[in-house]
Amino acid sequence: MDAVQPKKKMPLAAQIFIALILAIVAGLALQGNVPLAVNYIKPFGTIFLNLVKFVVGPIVLFSIMAGVVSLSDLRKVGSIGGLTLVYYFFTTAVAVTIGLVIANSFKGAFPALSTANLAYKVKNSNPGFMKMIVDLFPSNFIAPLNSSNMLQVIVMAILIGIAIIALGRKGEKAAEFINTWNDVFMKVMEMILSLSPIGVFCLLCPVVAQNGPAVIGSLAKVILCAYIAYALHAIIVYSLAVRTLGGMSPLKFFKGMMPAMIFAFSSASSVGTLPINMECASKLGASKEVVSFTLPLGATINMDGTAIYQGVCAVFIASCYGIDLTLPQMLTIVLTATLASVGTAGVPGAGMIMLAMVLASVNLPVDGIALVAGVDRIFDMGRTTLNITGDASCAIIVSHILDEKKKK
Ligand code: ASP
Repeated sequence: MDAVQPKKKMPLAAQIFIALILAIVAGLALQGNVPLAVNYIKPFGTIFLNLVKFVVGPIVLFSIMAGVVSLSDLRKVGSIGGLTLVYYFFTTAVAVTIGLVIANSFKGAFPALSTANLAYKVKNSNPGFMKMIVDLFPSNFIAPLNSSNMLQVIVMAILIGIAIIALGRKGEKAAEFINTWNDVFMKVMEMILSLSPIGVFCLLCPVVAQNGPAVIGSLAKVILCAYIAYALHAIIVYSLAVRTLGGMSPLKFFKGMMPAMIFAFSSASSVGTLPINMECASKLGASKEVVSFTLPLGATINMDGTAIYQGVCAVFIASCYGIDLTLPQMLTIVLTATLASVGTAGVPGAGMIMLAMVLASVNLPVDGIALVAGVDRIFDMGRTTLNITGDASCAIIVSHILDEKKKK
């Protein structure tokens, strides 16, 4: 009997990795023929990048609206919700700060690339703090989406989300609409991400052809930099938090979390890791009601690893283009990366899409994503591991605080 064997599809991560190797090989081979790479390969990379840019706006708009709408439950759980949100936002802001500090201390080792062929010009704008605040608020419904002003899109999304909650039962249809469109754009994003091997090849090959092996060496440096920041965040922030606020030894915490961490590392998906993360956190003693609230919420909105990655990559990309980030720009990155991590879906590769928003917020060239896209999976494995560990640390802490309150 010759049964037809179903063809097994190679996992996307493997495809991307192969694309990366091929891009390096082809790029090195084309060093003597840069125009061929720039004129005939790069355009396909540009198409991929355009699709990525296209989906960022709707993803931010709908996923944040959906996130806020889900807060109606959060109100019911009052104290759990408040504690959770404070912890999530605070640790994420600390995470991106650690990422920026580490990346800045590595900056000397990052290369400056030939950007002669990029049409991008650095906008030398230093608007000042008050102007930055004023600019957060949109004066038009369409314009923020049209000009990819993500901070304004986020403000809009939060406002609309709150309005839907305030409407109560009358807002149920709107909530359903938003959840459906959120799913639709997630699907669109998944489709675009499936093109990433081609995108990675076409974006990276001309970069290698133009810049030679220097770029490849520097990628190892930026990955190392991100992993140092991931480790520091886990060791300093989570250890300290679970010890002081959660009443648990960090060793016990990390040991108990190991299965979920390994799963996150290999799957690069917070959402995929959710069931095993819930199990680990429960076994560590977090109460069921806290686990079932904080972890699903965290898998959607709390991404410390992603925030670190965005901070590190922003500094790396800026330095590749010979741009020095100013302090107000760094503060903007802390703000946007914290908010971007809320809008990042807990699926592989989503953080890279959100990097576009962080770069755009400080006028850095979005095309710079090409420099890190080929090795995104390597970043992603580490950042997802940190993302889910942060969620679990929150469950332990909130559970402990509520227990202590009950005892009083
Ligand atoms: N893969 C990450 C996660 O699921 C999100 C990201 O790409 O940063 O947590």
